[in-house]
Amino acid sequence: MDQVNWEQGYDLTPPSLCLRNATTCGQGDVPIYSVEAETVADIQAAVQFASTHNLRLVVKSSGHDYLGRSTAPHSLLVHTANFKNISFADAFFVGKRNVGSAVTVGSGVHVQSLYQAGKQNGKIVVSGSAATVCATGGYIQGAGHSALSPTFGLASDNALEFNVVVASGDLLRVNSISHPDLFYALRGGGSGSWGIIVSATLRTFPTFNATSSLIILLALNNAAAASLATVHAQHIFDMDSVRAGQYFFLFKNSTEASAPSVLALNSYMPNTTTAQSTAILAPFLNASLALPDVQLISQQFVDGDINDALFQADDSVGENTVLGSRLIPAGTYRDSPAKVGQVYKQLLDSGTVVILTHLVAQGQVAENAYISSAVHPAWRTAKTHIVLSNSWTDSATLGEIDAIRKQFKTQQLPILEKISGPNAGSYSNEADVLEAEFKTTFFGPNYAKLSAIKRRYDPKDLFIVPAGVGSERWDEWGLCQV
Ligand SMILES: Cc1cc2nc3c(=O)[nH]c(=O)nc-3n(C[C@H](O)[C@H](O)[C@H](O)COP(=O)(O)OP(=O)(O)OC[C@H]3O[C@@H](n4cnc5c(N)ncnc54)[C@H](O)[C@@H]3O)c2cc1C
Repeated sequence: MDQVNWEQGYDLTPPSLCLRNATTCGQGDVPIYSVEAETVADIQAAVQFASTHNLRLVVKSSGHDYLGRSTAPHSLLVHTANFKNISFADAFFVGKRNVGSAVTVGSGVHVQSLYQAGKQNGKIVVSGSAATVCATGGYIQGAGHSALSPTFGLASDNALEFNVVVASGDLLRVNSISHPDLFYALRGGGSGSWGIIVSATLRTFPTFNATSSLIILLALNNAAAASLATVHAQHIFDMDSVRAGQYFFLFKNSTEASAPSVLALNSYMPNTTTAQSTAILAPFLNASLALPDVQLISQQFVDGDINDALFQADDSVGENTVLGSRLIPAGTYRDSPAKVGQVYKQLLDSGTVVILTHLVAQGQVAENAYISSAVHPAWRTAKTHIVLSNSWTDSATLGEIDAIRKQFKTQQLPILEKISGPNAGSYSNEADVLEAEFKTTFFGPNYAKLSAIKRRYDPKDLFIVPAGVGSERWDEWGLCQV
């Protein structure tokens, strides 16, 4: 797993751990056997075997999951990393209808490979800000946000078809006319609950030039960081004219209130020059630098092909990390930007050291509200997705780890709700696996419909993931029914 805490069996009795530099190792939450699938027949055989023998089945493409849904103790894993096909078509047909230019992507294809192939073919797809997340594995089933989402919508808004092995072992072609109910579920209904994706076909767009920029600011204390967050909120609509996507990430290396914060502002502006992009960000930057205790560390603007702008060479792995998040309505930014800064201040004062604001909604995401899919409707009214990340080192005690795993729920959520509102939505791929009301927090009003679709395609609950559809019937490991 990318985040190695998901390999540990903290909650098993007794705990089963395998830490760095350990002299003895337990199996933890790592599957016992793995099928390194190379063909559809391999996947079908594994599914049928697991079904016949009543095995706990898990599915993994990259292992990047932040909720640990691609691993489980005492399980059989089906690994789809070998499905690397990428095939572009100028005309893709759903039934007899030509739905235009598209690319069919195997479920083991990394996002970075898709950007490279896109550049070679003069195309761009809506995909993640990552190197080795798989574009058509868990990412798209959760909804899939992108720096291009304000321009083109969510990744799942641009999915045209899936090839999926379902619990019966059948390979289904799933699109708007063939198994439309499963098509609905695979677009936002949560990763890992529906079957094993072999490939998905995604809409493509002609490639274009964009400016990507990275501005790094230093806030010398929590008050300065909070003021900067307010200024950012006040200027967040400045970029609407070019439908920019942006990541506004805060990091501290100490929980002390007097410790500085680094704020990295990574912006992607389609069809703009460096000069235009600089001008759009200037009001924010000037207001930021007028604040006391805020300094500019660096700024860099690069013009070029959008595929190059989004390409990343690698992801950072090997940490013990859990997340919690909320979708923040556009209305919060419009009506009360100062509240955003106040929430940053309270989060920082209570010991939060990582606040990740993703400006990946509105624009086409809001305009796609008419699409019938399982995407949480909160995406359609959100401006940002704010993620809080909590980490520990291998030397932490089990008691400390337990407290950190519950930190979002016990300490941070009540603060974040001051800007998200109560009972707000959260993006299920970057979220807290311990969400008390995951059915509504992750799936909103769609849960009942998703539950019915689950019963139809997976009546024996072969595909169960924590905080996923149907998981309420199972213990936390998906081993025993409750
Ligand atoms: C560095 C990093 C950057 C990220 N950036 C973004 C981003 O820009 N936008 C965004 O929206 N999200 C982002 N994410 C979150 C990402 O969407 C999730 O981690 C997602 O779960 C990854 O999917 P995966 O298939 O690669 O991972 P895995 O851990 O392999 O799988 C995740 C889930 O999908 C299921 N799954 C995997 N493969 C298949 C398959 N073939 N068929 C059916 N189910 C499958 C698994 O069972 C599991 O439930 C990022 C994560 C990381 C670690």
